[in-house]
Amino acid sequence: CLHHPAVLDALAATLEGGRAGAVRREIKAPVRRVFDVHIAPLELEELGGQGAFILLREVTATLEAERMRADFVANVSHELRSPLASLTGFIETLQGPASGDVEAQKRFLAIMQAEAERMRRLIDDLLALSAIETEEFIAPGRTVDIAQIVRSVIESLAMKAKRRGVTIETSGLEGLPSIPGDADQLTQTMVNLVENAIKYGRQGGTVRIETAPVERMPGRGGPAVRITVADEGEGIAPEHLPRLTERFYRVDKGRSRSLGGTGLGLAIVKHIVNRHRGHLAIASRPGEGSTFTIYLPTA
Ligand code: ADP
Repeated sequence: CLHHPAVLDALAATLEGGRAGAVRREIKAPVRRVFDVHIAPLELEELGGQGAFILLREVTATLEAERMRADFVANVSHELRSPLASLTGFIETLQGPASGDVEAQKRFLAIMQAEAERMRRLIDDLLALSAIETEEFIAPGRTVDIAQIVRSVIESLAMKAKRRGVTIETSGLEGLPSIPGDADQLTQTMVNLVENAIKYGRQGGTVRIETAPVERMPGRGGPAVRITVADEGEGIAPEHLPRLTERFYRVDKGRSRSLGGTGLGLAIVKHIVNRHRGHLAIASRPGEGSTFTIYLPTA
């Protein structure tokens, strides 16, 4: 870093002019790192001459956080703008060309309702995400019955499963220990995972929800409850797996949109699992299906 021409130039300028300077220096390999280099003149009496004090401050993480925030705002605006554009378009059509066409009006109003619904879901998910983020460092204070949560989530999604001809099977729900947790958040986690398994799973296939206590959870260790949601869908290619929990990351944008997805479901799951000091693992065999596993500590 110190041998970079920009740093050497700044150093020379400081030594000549006696004034402090600063430059930003980027290192590309082996990983990109960015440093702010501050240089100040220093009298070194014992050496009988002029020296310089050089401070290296790494700003890689700060820049990355700034970039992510900017990307997020751009993504949110884009996601909200497309249903809004569609709504505006239909309003104009209803006021103009379709003003006397009752059949067209019915059809357009149904589309407008779906678009408005999409905006509402997006805003709900954004608010949920921001609420979870502000609480992320506060451990949940109550205990919850995870088997009960799984059962009620299956019940609430029964119609959706039926419409795709999907059967939901469970195992291990009897005799699970209760765990410290936030019931609403864990319900949301299960809804997001099971809903995805129904949406992206095989039509007419099976979604398996297996629960079991384990001695040691991966990563953090310690006893936990393991909950696995497995589908028989197309699966996910390995290159996508590491990015799935990023906000708005989708393997197939068009497909996610047409299924009513916001692209925030797995980001919400990740933050809720983090808040519970748990662990999330995603595995998939393309062509055979995907398995989402969460571990929630029992104590
Ligand atoms: P979305 O609202 O798009 O479903 P999610 O955050 O829930 O957003 O999921 C992100 C992406 O991960 C989805 O768009 C989809 O490409 C992929 N995905 C999630 N669950 C599954 C699954 N069970 N099978 C295949 N792909 C999945």
